Amino acid sequence: MNAEVIAVGSELLLGQIANTNGQFISKQLASIGVNVYSHTVVGDNQERLTRAIEQSHDRSDVVILTGGLGPTKDDLTKETVASFCGRKLVYDQQALEYIETFFKRHNRTMTPNNKKQAYVIEDATVLANRHGMAPGMVVELADQKKIVLLPGPPSEMKPMFEHELMPLLLGVSDQSAITSRIMHFFGIGESQLETDLEDLIDQQTNPTIAPLAGDGEVKIRLTVKHTDQEEAIRLLDETERLISARVGSFLYGYNETTLVKESYAVLSEQGLSISSAESLTAGLFSSELASVPGASQVLKGSITAYTNEIKQVVLGVSNETLATNGAVSEECALEMARGAKRLFQTDVAIAFTGVAGPDKVGDQEAGVVKLALVLPDGEERVYALSLSGGRNAVRKRAVKYGYFYLLE
Ligand code: ATP
Ligand code: MG
Repeated sequence: MNAEVIAVGSELLLGQIANTNGQFISKQLASIGVNVYSHTVVGDNQERLTRAIEQSHDRSDVVILTGGLGPTKDDLTKETVASFCGRKLVYDQQALEYIETFFKRHNRTMTPNNKKQAYVIEDATVLANRHGMAPGMVVELADQKKIVLLPGPPSEMKPMFEHELMPLLLGVSDQSAITSRIMHFFGIGESQLETDLEDLIDQQTNPTIAPLAGDGEVKIRLTVKHTDQEEAIRLLDETERLISARVGSFLYGYNETTLVKESYAVLSEQGLSISSAESLTAGLFSSELASVPGASQVLKGSITAYTNEIKQVVLGVSNETLATNGAVSEECALEMARGAKRLFQTDVAIAFTGVAGPDKVGDQEAGVVKLALVLPDGEERVYALSLSGGRNAVRKRAVKYGYFYLLE
């Protein structure tokens, strides 16, 4: 099966917004083994949209459109697809009721043009929109090809894609289902991971194996089609074992997790408190941790020690260390962590120091990071990293490494 994506909206052509929907849809399709042949961006113009649909339909089995499903005059995707297929728009009672409920729930007044959103293309499969009003649609054509209409706002499009459209695309009948498992990796790049798993990815059938990269991390989604839940788990476990045998040391969690959530879970399960001393990251580590509900159970506090003076006066970093090794050194990181542990009386303390860039500091290159951990049994660990990327990428990645090392 091959597919293509048409993103509709003049804002996209004007460069006011980026076509992140196109990216998301492509990644999702790749993850289930659907080839994406082409991407098109079209303005809110019926004639040009019609031409784009004609071309895409000629080339591909599935054409997915996003945007232009709303109630305003410039939203004309539905009308255009209807006329392309030679079908009428019909009133969908369920969609109308849903729209009315949506307005009540959000205490908003319904305007007549909102009713327009309850019109759907005749004989289309309607995809529920649980985060907005415009329903999505799958239109099956006489030639077995499909045209899919999805709303523009990513907050509506993404859940609709994953929960409503994905099962249909996988050709799932009522007797079978899909189960997926996401494996999260850190410390390995996407291309390395793909190289290490190349033959497994090439031979994939059921489950499918799809690497997804982003935010300095790599994920793998395993998707299995099955009629029996136990069988599904067995197949997923089997594939996971093959993957873990090669890249298991980078695996840190499953499904809806993040490094910070995993670290929080480990600390709270063991009843451990933590504090941080942050130079390079200036509070990013503790701020991330504070974003997890219940953080106060583990996080006691944090010191942003940006200058040498604060490192000395507040954290007790020695004159000698600063003079001999400098602020960006394993020694300094370790003394910072010890200082935080003492000040906050925590079980664990972590410290970050480094050069965010873009310029080097002294003879230290941008991206050089020193990280120290002091653990409950008194064990002390230091790490030296050399990270790439801009200033904020370096700071964020340093924090991720901090969480990753906490899990070790
Ligand atoms: P609405 O009911 O909000 O009008 P719609 O389905 O008509 O939704 P559009 O009007 O085309 O969609 O776009 C609404 C918003 O959704 C845009 O302002 C933009 O923020 C976002 N959006 C639309 N298309 C894309 C896209 N391809 N990538 C990322 N965001 C998009
Ligand atoms: Mg719109």
